[in-house]
Amino acid sequence: MCGWYHTSPQRHPRPSHAGQTKARWAVVGAGFTGLAAARQLALNFPDDEIVLVEAQEVGFGTSGRNAGFAIDLPHDIGADDYIGDIATAKTTLKLNVLGQTILRDIVATHGIDCHLSASGKYQAAVAERGVAVLDAYRRGLDKLGQPYEVIEGKDLPSHIGTSFYRKALFTPGTVLVQPSALVKGLADALPSNVTLHEHTPITDVEYGEKIVLAHRGGRITADKLVLANNAFGMRFGFLQRTMLPVFLYASLTRPLTEAEQAQLGGKPFWGVIPADPFGSTLRRTHDNRILVRNSFSFNPDGRPKEQYLSRFAERHRRSFERRFPMLPDVGFDYTWSGSLALSHNHKGFFGQLAPNVYGALCCNGLGITRGTVTGTLLADWLAGKRGDLIDFLLATSGPNKTPPEPFLSMGVNATLWWGQRKAGLES
Ligand SMILES: Cc1cc2nc3c(=O)[nH]c(=O)nc-3n(C[C@H](O)[C@H](O)[C@H](O)COP(=O)(O)OP(=O)(O)OC[C@H]3O[C@@H](n4cnc5c(N)ncnc54)[C@H](O)[C@@H]3O)c2cc1C
Repeated sequence: MCGWYHTSPQRHPRPSHAGQTKARWAVVGAGFTGLAAARQLALNFPDDEIVLVEAQEVGFGTSGRNAGFAIDLPHDIGADDYIGDIATAKTTLKLNVLGQTILRDIVATHGIDCHLSASGKYQAAVAERGVAVLDAYRRGLDKLGQPYEVIEGKDLPSHIGTSFYRKALFTPGTVLVQPSALVKGLADALPSNVTLHEHTPITDVEYGEKIVLAHRGGRITADKLVLANNAFGMRFGFLQRTMLPVFLYASLTRPLTEAEQAQLGGKPFWGVIPADPFGSTLRRTHDNRILVRNSFSFNPDGRPKEQYLSRFAERHRRSFERRFPMLPDVGFDYTWSGSLALSHNHKGFFGQLAPNVYGALCCNGLGITRGTVTGTLLADWLAGKRGDLIDFLLATSGPNKTPPEPFLSMGVNATLWWGQRKAGLES
């Protein structure tokens, strides 16, 4: 059960699609990317009808299941200082900041109740290897001219309550959100020329001069199709064997009592990401719960697997106990998984996939800002707009090919197993 979905305001999902519909534009997937693309298409083409279809209820998919860090800074895990090529890093920063600005503007204009807060983030390390990562990243941030604060372990309890970490790098530009509340709010704030259909999984598609999207209850015929369904884009015949459906897992505690909040100490609202990518992400939420996010599994069919949930809930428990021994009686109310699309070269796809078919796909784990900005800029590009950010995205090589099965599963599972083992106490 996804805690963010259940603790965010309830809304009435839009009716699923039925019968035959014709539209100028169809967008598949109402996560951050599809909502942004549909919205911007509607603003760029006020006389066109845009049909947005979503397989589930908005807020229930991965966009509502993540840890809620809308991150500004680039973090190139392939580079020694995590910044890498400075020109690319500057453009990535510009893209991410634009994604944040778009979200903030919509939240402010429509009064979306999603606890958006410019809290920054702590990137924290427990062991020597993690501290070395922070030092390298600090050098990268110097190169990029971005502000940060180094916080030693002894001072961390006054920030985040726990004395578990040896060191943290605080960067002020991250915005924290309640992700399910945010996507639900974005769906309800769409312009009037967007028709959203939830609970409408597209099962078949015909390509040609017109695109026909079929599902159990009907067909949508569109002049142009935008795919914003992340790894599921491969099911539409594109980018085959490039995106890896990797699942991440999170748990959310019950709300802390006032006495427990006093035992914990620290600030009332914060987010921690790990120095080691296989470590634990933590949040203290606006309603005084603690979120723990760690563990990965590779599910090549893109479907969640029940057996991992209980195993990883146990791991979340152990991670929680190590960090918060002052909260021995605080249990988890929710544990859930969500799927990412990762590529081997960490690149996403942006642009044209076939005649009349376009896509912004493969989030690589940072879809709140990146999905928002790529969805928006794809719609701008389709309206004939250009600029340095659109040129940069169009020039990106896109996700590269992965090896065939069974080598793929063997390789990914070995990488995940080794990464999680190496993370040790960071997880
Ligand atoms: C536990 C976890 C923690 C994370 N933490 C963060 C974080 O802190 N910050 C961050 O930026 N990112 C984070 N992410 C990643 C982030 O959630 C994704 O990058 C983001 O959701 C991608 O957005 P999207 O709109 O591109 O794709 P999605 O959110 O996957 O949306 C695609 C939508 O397409 C729909 N769809 C698929 N196929 C069809 C079909 N055939 N017909 C109709 N609809 C279809 C799906 O139902 C889905 O809702 C995390 C992810 C997880 C799982």
